[in-house]
Amino acid sequence: MKIHIDIDCFFVSAARLVDPSLEGKAVGIGGGSNSKIFDLSAKKQTANFENSGSFVPTFFKAYEKKDDDIANFKDENGTIRGILTTSSYEARRYGVKTAMNIQEALRLCPNLIIKAPNMSLYQELSHKLHEFLQTKIPLIEQASIDEFYGDLSGWIEDGEIPQFIDNLRLEIKNIVGLPVSIGAAKTKYIAKLATTYAKPFGSKIILAHDFDKFINPIPVREFAGIGKSMAKKLFSAQIHTLGELRDRRGTLESFGPYAKELYRRVNGEADAPIKTTSKRKSIGIARTFAPIFDRNELKRRVHILARHLNFAILKLKVIPTVFSLSIAYDMNMKSHKNISLSERFTEKKFDSLCITLFNEADTQKRLQVIRISINCSSFTRESKKELSLINFADEEKMEKLTQEVQVLREKYGLDTLKWGSEL
Ligand SMILES: [Mg+2]
Repeated sequence: MKIHIDIDCFFVSAARLVDPSLEGKAVGIGGGSNSKIFDLSAKKQTANFENSGSFVPTFFKAYEKKDDDIANFKDENGTIRGILTTSSYEARRYGVKTAMNIQEALRLCPNLIIKAPNMSLYQELSHKLHEFLQTKIPLIEQASIDEFYGDLSGWIEDGEIPQFIDNLRLEIKNIVGLPVSIGAAKTKYIAKLATTYAKPFGSKIILAHDFDKFINPIPVREFAGIGKSMAKKLFSAQIHTLGELRDRRGTLESFGPYAKELYRRVNGEADAPIKTTSKRKSIGIARTFAPIFDRNELKRRVHILARHLNFAILKLKVIPTVFSLSIAYDMNMKSHKNISLSERFTEKKFDSLCITLFNEADTQKRLQVIRISINCSSFTRESKKELSLINFADEEKMEKLTQEVQVLREKYGLDTLKWGSEL
């Protein structure tokens, strides 16, 4: 059997670990991005990166409690902007939902306590859980920051699975401090679906004899892999539940190869292997801010984002070869540019690259910008020497400087040294 482990309202649970007085209360995590890094006086910032892939490395040594200070997320008028990323079950009872505007959530649930996100804490806890699970189950795959798959076949007898997963839940609660829910079934896809019905802090096992009874009444939209457009297609064919879907093999097959595969997943026939080796595939940083038109100010922010991301890349000891920058404008416009570059990694080069990407991505010069994100991926660990033979001596010097600056920043904070262009 495969199991799917999902942390219950992860960000809220993490906040409760830090502050147990939040237990049992309506809590929401959200807010716009922390825009303090753009302050000219920014000092002693901690690296706080958005998780842009399904990975969690031993990247952050420790979180800082002040990171989730909601004051960092208020605008000039003292209003908390942005949307909720997570809410506790107590808040959900009032109709509070993920992706809801914070102001609206507060109207529905005036007692709602808003906490700012704390990515480094989440990374740390997620990593701790991953390590713990690896000691319990040989084949563990991390699917996202708060989701794991495990393969129990050959490890735990089917008859012992209920006991095993209930013990596992309790152990995770005791050792890592987080409530998780666990679904178990023949395939990963069905196990994930089962977890939805195990929440909160429960378990759900789908055995062969109760498969039909479990699957058939579930609305199609709840199955991972059925997105908005597929759901629309299904609705137009009068398919609303997974049972109806399972009765319509021919219709699904006529929808194309993906729908055909979907049919097999829902039927418990298609599965995917547990991928234990998945490592961090990318790293990114993004910030949302009040609309800005001034291109010089935007470039100054690109320099700052580049410096922060550079710090993270060096900490991870990876060499990215694909770089991308995205701009979100007001009026719902977006633009994106990426470039592949197999060269030695130095901060100066990375900084210039980000500016080049920004200039090229900025196709809507008449519009104000509300968000910039930079992402680096396709890591290589190959010898940097072969990557660029031209300007080798110069690059070696720059690389040495980059490393030295990193040592200083790790010691004294990442605002210790800034580029002149930021000021
Ligand atoms: Mg979760």
